[in-house]
Amino acid sequence: MKNIAVLTSGGDAPGMNAAIRAVVRKGNKEGFNVYGISHGFLGLTKGDLKKLEVRDVGDIIHRGGTILYSARCEEFKEVHVQQKAVATLREYNIDTVIVIGGDGSFRGAQALERHGIKTIGIPATIDNDIPFTEYTIGFDTSLNTILEALDRIRDTATSHERTFIVEVMGRESGQLALYSGLASGAEVSLVPEAIEEMSTVIHKIDESIRLGKKHSIVIVAEGAISAAECSKIISDALHIEVRTSVLGHIQRGGKPTARDRIYASRFGSTAVDLILEEKHDVALIVNEGKIKMKDFDEVITGKKNLDTSILKMIDELSI
Ligand code: ADP
Repeated sequence: MKNIAVLTSGGDAPGMNAAIRAVVRKGNKEGFNVYGISHGFLGLTKGDLKKLEVRDVGDIIHRGGTILYSARCEEFKEVHVQQKAVATLREYNIDTVIVIGGDGSFRGAQALERHGIKTIGIPATIDNDIPFTEYTIGFDTSLNTILEALDRIRDTATSHERTFIVEVMGRESGQLALYSGLASGAEVSLVPEAIEEMSTVIHKIDESIRLGKKHSIVIVAEGAISAAECSKIISDALHIEVRTSVLGHIQRGGKPTARDRIYASRFGSTAVDLILEEKHDVALIVNEGKIKMKDFDEVITGKKNLDTSILKMIDELSI
């Protein structure tokens, strides 16, 4: 019987559990023993793994976080640490590992490939910052959490006729800021991919006030500018009271949305199909709604595009 393993690594993302469930159940159906590695690459170096049966992944499809725990393990960049992980895999006779995580985790998977272990990547990060894929597990849930927060902030912003600056996650990516800006009806979204002159932002808010708008909401991606810095620039320029809100870790957890559960299930099941087809050293991606695969090399060195026409749309619709 063939032995395979699954791990979650990097930042947790809602839907990771649905992906684990799909890997375990589809893997079992195809006659594989499926091992769950705890705490990502760190757990692998410590031999922290156990066989998962179909019932072990019951009742998790609707839960955020990851039952396998996640970890960051900087030492995994060192060859002697990777060799420890490989020794664990050899001991259990595991020849393929499905890595659920972001592009950092895919680099870890590639490191295992260099030692002769087959790997398949499933894109999971709330940031949706992985090149070539339209979608990563967790993005939709995070976006909806941000929207819920923005709707609440809007009530207060309207009642007090105030300008709010809301900082959202995304690391170097502006995807969450961009789409939450469009969906919430914000005045501006500031994203790292297309840095806007602050004078333009100030002008936009000034115009909104002049046109009689009750409030303004500016969304800033953490990789573009901090809410505090943005707030100071606007309040100094316009002499208005500005409030800030940094949404922080509430954006990471929570019950996965239908979209996240569906993609996670499709990714998990397809990853097992790829093992049957003897494919490896690839990440799964979504392209025009279809699940496809792409070489890790291309995914890791590629550049994620942001649809900057949405910025113009946000501006045009928030008059
Ligand atoms: P994400 O997968 O969400 O992008 P990180 O960038 O933190 O998250 O990466 C997750 C983990 O992947 C790291 O803690 C490390 O264990 C592993 N990793 C990242 N880059 C490399 C690399 N160049 N070589 C080996 N392992 C890596």
